[in-house]
Order: sequence, then structure tokens, then C-alpha cells
Amino acid sequence: MTDETSAARPVPAPRTDRTRIRRHADRAVPERIEEFLLRGEVAHVALVDGGEPRLIPFLYHYEAGHIYLHGSPGNATLRLLRDGRSVVVAVTSLVDLIASKTAADHSANYRSVVAYGRGRQIADVAEKRRVLEAMTVRYFPGREPGRDYTAASDEDLAGMELTDVEVDEASAKMRDAGPLGPHDDDPNFPGSAFVRPA
Ligand SMILES: Cc1cc2nc3c(=O)[nH]c(=O)nc-3n(C[C@H](O)[C@H](O)[C@H](O)COP(=O)(O)OP(=O)(O)OC[C@H]3O[C@@H](n4cnc5c(N)ncnc54)[C@H](O)[C@@H]3O)c2cc1C
Repeated sequence: MTDETSAARPVPAPRTDRTRIRRHADRAVPERIEEFLLRGEVAHVALVDGGEPRLIPFLYHYEAGHIYLHGSPGNATLRLLRDGRSVVVAVTSLVDLIASKTAADHSANYRSVVAYGRGRQIADVAEKRRVLEAMTVRYFPGREPGRDYTAASDEDLAGMELTDVEVDEASAKMRDAGPLGPHDDDPNFPGSAFVRPA
């Protein structure tokens, strides 16, 4: 493990206006940023390349203020991140779908984080092994190299791109409620309102 990568960072929190949740500010949950990043499954990674937006979904690993992404050395997104440019990562979980008696009040319960930072290529093979094994356990709790699968060789790891996105700041938002339409509690109003787990 390299000292630089393993350095514990403060919990990412909103610091500037870009992470201030304006719409439904009551749904801002900055204290749950780390929890949502630790529980999430897919990271949507967005950056600007030559003035054009670019967004790609990835599996990821989160640890103490760092989001790790891996792929082949030919991966265009990870190659672009080698130069330390700004990147934004969204991790969203759809929890429930919400049906309402009024069209405009259909909704969803969700947990989401938007994290801003910069990427850094990790070349150290020992650090790659540590992060990859931790990532595997995150997606497959209890799985162990040597027992459940053949561990990656140093050559495998050398031929893999690993990017550490150091989170500069982040925001978290969630909805956790039933139908909130004006007629959803009125049994005499036509239609139906319910919560369906996603
Ligand atoms: C849930 C999920 C998890 C994934 N996890 C990983 C991972 O951990 N590591 C990894 O290397 N790859 C992962 N992939 C594949 C990844 O999304 C990219 O397709 C791949 O990494 C190539 O990236 P690139 O930047 O080289 O894309 P390029 O091939 O250069 O992308 C060019 C264009 O192709 C289109 N494109 C690329 N990927 C997708 C896509 N997934 N869906 C729709 N259009 C696309 C976009 O329009 C994009 O602008 C995952 C995909 C999904 C859906």
C-alpha cells in the first residue's frame, strides 16, 4: 500500500456552491455521503474531453474519500483521467417507485451522491492488488483469493489500469416517503396510489 493513496481523508462534504442542493433542500443528507458511496453499485463517471461531455458507467470501490475505478489500459475514460482533469461521479440507487393519483406526483425513493474530484493513475502493483481485492469483497462479501478464485498475478495487475479519484467535495440527496399527491390520502378520489419496491 502506498502512503499517498492510503492516506485517510476527511469525509467528503459539500464545501462550495456547486454542491449546494437547491431543489428540495430538505432532502439533502450530507451526513450519509460515505454510507451511500459504500453501499452503491454503479458509478457514472463524467468528464469533459475537447469541450464535449463524456459519461461512462463503471463498477467502483470507495474508501476514505477515494473512489477507485478499474479497466483495461485501453479504456479511454481512464486514460483521459491520467492528466488529473476534473471529474464528477454519480452513484444512485433506486429504492422504490411511487404511484400517485395525480400525474405530476408520480415519483421515486432514491439515494444518490454526486462527487467531484480528480483522477490519478495508480501504478504500484501492491496497491492495485489491495484495492482490487477490497473491491471484489465489496461486491462479493466473503470471497477470498486462493480459496474462491485464483488471485491476479503481478502481470495481470500490471496490465490493468487503476484510477484513484480523490474526492474534493460531494453532496448526497434522498427521498424516503410515500405518495405525496394532494389526493393520495383521499379514498373518495379516483385512482390509486402506492409504493412499489424497485
Ligand atoms: C454497470 C456497468 C459496470 C461497468 N463496469 C466497468 C468497469 O468497472 N470497468 C470497465 O473498464 N468498464 C466497465 N463497464 C463498461 C464501461 O461502461 C465502458 O463500456 C468501457 O469501460 C469502455 O470505456 P471507454 O471509456 O473506453 O468507452 P469508449 O468505448 O471509448 O466509449 C465511446 C462511446 O461509446 C458509448 N459507450 C461506452 N460504454 C458504454 C456503455 N456502457 N453503455 C452505453 N454506451 C457506451 C458512449 O457513447 C461513449 O461515449 C461497465 C459497464 C456497465 C454498464
